[in-house]
Formats: sequence, structure tokens, C-alpha cells
Amino acid sequence: MGDRILLSLCKMGGKEKDFIEAAFRDNWVVPLGPNVDGFEKDLETFLLPEGSRKRVCALASGTAAIHLGLVMLGVERGDEVMVQSLTFSASANPVKYQGATPVFVDSEPETWNIDPQLLDYAIKDRKDKTGRLPKAIVFVDLYGMPAKMREIEEVARKWGIPVLEDAAEAFGSEYQEEKCGNFGEYGVLSFNGNKMITTSGGGALVCPDDEAFRRVMNYATQSREATPWYQHERIGYNYRMSNICAGIGRGQMMVAQEHIDHHRWVQAQYREAFKDFEGIILHENPGPEFDSNFWLPTITFSPEAHISGEEAGGKPEAMRRILEKENIETRHVWKPMHLQPFFKDCPAYLNGVSEDLFNSGLCLPASPWVGQKELEKIISTIKSAFK
Ligand SMILES: *Cc1c(COP(=O)(O)O)cnc(C)c1O
Repeated sequence: MGDRILLSLCKMGGKEKDFIEAAFRDNWVVPLGPNVDGFEKDLETFLLPEGSRKRVCALASGTAAIHLGLVMLGVERGDEVMVQSLTFSASANPVKYQGATPVFVDSEPETWNIDPQLLDYAIKDRKDKTGRLPKAIVFVDLYGMPAKMREIEEVARKWGIPVLEDAAEAFGSEYQEEKCGNFGEYGVLSFNGNKMITTSGGGALVCPDDEAFRRVMNYATQSREATPWYQHERIGYNYRMSNICAGIGRGQMMVAQEHIDHHRWVQAQYREAFKDFEGIILHENPGPEFDSNFWLPTITFSPEAHISGEEAGGKPEAMRRILEKENIETRHVWKPMHLQPFFKDCPAYLNGVSEDLFNSGLCLPASPWVGQKELEKIISTIKSAFK
């Protein structure tokens, strides 16, 4: 790592190797086995409220989980899917894998996630224009911040459209004391190397019940029928999680709460540092029902603030460059999907919020590697950049 302060990087807890060694010892070096089963159980215990009928299926990536979620919701060629525009591209790409069209919806300014009113309007407009309802709604808990679940669910219920929650960034976040990943018909988690916990690469799909779980598992293992020969009655995928990766996941689950607590502690340090500092607005839980994991703390710069070098490429880019010179990694807020060349022909319902956030926002480091010393350097560098 050297002296570089990275935006987000997972940290091993120590027990990961034991689970991997057990897999080697017992020759479970395949995409199934005791670590996969154990990791799924760990996730269910962590995520699901008591008495929940949901099940968690471990998969090769969060993107694979979104794809199989859409497959399960029956998204097909020619369908439309409502997708939050302000997100990472992996929320939208699987809609294209299915030959369907993402219809992008802008954010509300409180959580930065899909605007429920605009979503409602957009669905009505799609129905008027195409004569059909969209097949699904994909919303995101961006940077760990839970979306306005109840309002989204209300809109979804009103139109009878199923919802997929992309909680890839929100492992451990809660809305009304329920864990993110639990809302909607399907929920998605990611265990990529830069997320809250890692399996080096991996993801999971939260399924509504045991039957859905078994179908997802079947899709993820090439859709083989229960015949002595290889019989396939529908398309299949190779999306199951490796037993080695799941071993890392089991070790990570032993330190998951520590990691979440650390991210919240880092957010508290930024809160204290910027509370009377003009020019910086820290993105915070907008109400008591929201409890973000603060996977990435994010700030926006107020228009009155002046940062050295902002004339060239705007405030976030000027700040990013100043921090980069000090070997501190930061990142622009996601560039909205409706502004991406690849998605330029997709319908979009906009209110300017996501574009404003892209133009004024910056994500700050928060991983377990960011301690008091690192924070002091980050905060003093940020403050000294103001003119
Ligand atoms: C990381 C991420 C994904 C994809 O997860 P992978 O495990 O990297 O495939 C999907 N959506 C969002 C919002 C993400 O941040």
C-alpha cells in the first residue's frame, strides 16, 4: 500500500485463511461446498429479520446477482425497466444483457436515490407512450444511503411492478431498523474488493423464498435438469460463487460489523471537521429512519466556495487533483447513466439533481485503513485548498 490513502479497500480479519485451508484440505476447490453454504447462512443471519422466508444465494458478482434478479422477474427483449440514473453502470448493464431498455429516473436530493414522485410520473408516461407498463424497477442505496423505501414501495404497489434493490454499496445499512437488501422482491449485495466486505470478487441475490432460491441456484449453475444426462430446458449461466471465495467471505463476516462501525466512525470525524466549515456539505442521513453504513462519505461544494484551480475543470476535479498530489485517492460522484454515451438513446426522466451532484460532489476515503493520522492529513489538505 505504501503511503497512499485509498478510497476504499477491504481488510482481512485473519480467519479467512482458515476457511480457505479447510477447502484445500477437503478438496472443495469448486463453485460449491461447505464455505458457500456457510457463507449463505452467515448472510441470512446477518441480513434477514426473524421469521423471514427470504433466502440468500451466493453468486460470482453483484452484477451477476442483478442479472439473475431481472431474469427471475421475467425481464425480456423489448421490455422496459425503470433504473436509477445516479449509480454505477452495473445497475443498468444487466437490463441490456436481457435485450431490454433501461428507462432512467433522476434522484431526490435527500438520499440521492431514485425520486419516488418522478418515478410515478415516469411510469405513467411510459404506459401512455408505449401502451405497456415497465417490467421492473431497479433502485440503489447509493454510497450506503438507504433509498426512500416506503415511497418507492407505494409507487411499485400502485402500478403492480416488482422492485429490485441494488444494495451493493449498502451492506449493513438500515432503513427503519431493517437491513438494506431486504426491500423489494429481490435484493443485491456485492463483495468486490472495494465494498464493505469482500470475497475478492462476488455477490449475492436475496430471494423472496425457498423456491425462488432454488431456481436462482439452478440458473446460476447452467440450468441443468434433475436427469442422469445433461438436460437443459432454459438458458443457463455460470454464476455460482467459488468455495474458495466463499471462505474469504466467511472470515469477513466475523469482522463485518467492525468494518461498518469503522466507516460510521470515519463519517463522524468528517462531520466534526466540517461542521462549521463553509463551502462543504457532508451527505448525511436525512432522518431517523435512515442509517447509512457510510461506505463512502461524500461531500458537495457550495457554489460560493472557491477552490484553487477550479476554473479548469470545476470544484470536485480541482479538489481531487489537490488531494492526489498528497497521495490521497478521492473520486467524483457517479456520472449519471443518462449522461453516459452508451445509454444516450435510452429514455430518461430528469430533474437536474443527479447532474448537480455529479458536478459538485466528491467521495472521500473511509476504509478500515483510514485512521486518525490519515484523516488529519485528508481534512487539513481539503481545508487548505479553499481560497
Ligand atoms: C459494485 C456495484 C455493483 C456491482 O457489483 P460487482 O460485485 O462489482 O459486480 C452494482 N451496483 C452498484 C451500485 C455497485 O456499486
